[in-house]
Amino acid sequence: MIGAPGSGKSMMAKRLPSILPPLTLAESLETTKIHSVAGKLGSRTALIARRPFRSPHHSISSVALIGGGQNPQPGEISLAHNGVLFADELPEFSRSVLEVLRQPLEDRKITISRARYSVEFPCSFMFVASMNPCPCGYYNHPTRQCVCSPGQVARYLNRISGPLLDRIDIQVEIVPVAFEQMSDSRRGERSADIRQRVIRARQIQEERYREYPGIHCNAQMTSALLAEYAQPDAKSLSLLKQAMERLNLSARAYDRILKVARTIADLEGAPVIGVPHIAEAISYRSLDRGTWGTGL
Ligand SMILES: [Zn+2]
Repeated sequence: MIGAPGSGKSMMAKRLPSILPPLTLAESLETTKIHSVAGKLGSRTALIARRPFRSPHHSISSVALIGGGQNPQPGEISLAHNGVLFADELPEFSRSVLEVLRQPLEDRKITISRARYSVEFPCSFMFVASMNPCPCGYYNHPTRQCVCSPGQVARYLNRISGPLLDRIDIQVEIVPVAFEQMSDSRRGERSADIRQRVIRARQIQEERYREYPGIHCNAQMTSALLAEYAQPDAKSLSLLKQAMERLNLSARAYDRILKVARTIADLEGAPVIGVPHIAEAISYRSLDRGTWGTGL
């Protein structure tokens, strides 16, 4: 999520576990085990029943993030297993810390090898990050003036490496809500209702991948599965091809768009990916269009 200070990025991240499906018993046990090994299970907790939400400070060390130490301890990425790992102010994290995140994001497990031991901890988490759009915070803001030069805006984004950015499926710009809209009497959708839709979409996915061990949702699709289950119809394919050329998107972005489009279609209960699904998924690649910071 990229947006000005006060646009509600952290608030949205914290609410995320409330729309995710409840933990299954197996997930509950795994999560409890990790927290117990880390000595982070309260004396009154027998079983962790809520998805973890971990939000380490940007001054965190690589060891505290991925795990390790004298006696092997799980890090924040494993404490976030089956839940959400939220990196607030992503560009403030040290570059080396961000780099060690890449592999566990792909593998969903981490092997820590030292002279004396080698241990493996699971770390299948949803990675969520927030950042200001520029050093002053107001680039692209509807009412306030950004005082940064185009070079400063581009350099700020460049603190996040391309390969890490590539691994983020959904990149959205959060635009602050105007006061009139905030006081609008219409109520938004309740988290509990959104959660029901998410649960239905996940059930469709469980069913789809039931013959593939270890694969439960669209995010885990391999290229072969993408080709099998996320092929858009002819019209949406030509839309995607056009967007790829015009926005100068990478091959990795192409796969991400198909995965996200598959999920958007699942949320609607649509069997085939159509134009609206692809169009929405393309709109979630705000940062890799090569135009960020150029004023276009
Ligand atoms: Zn600025």
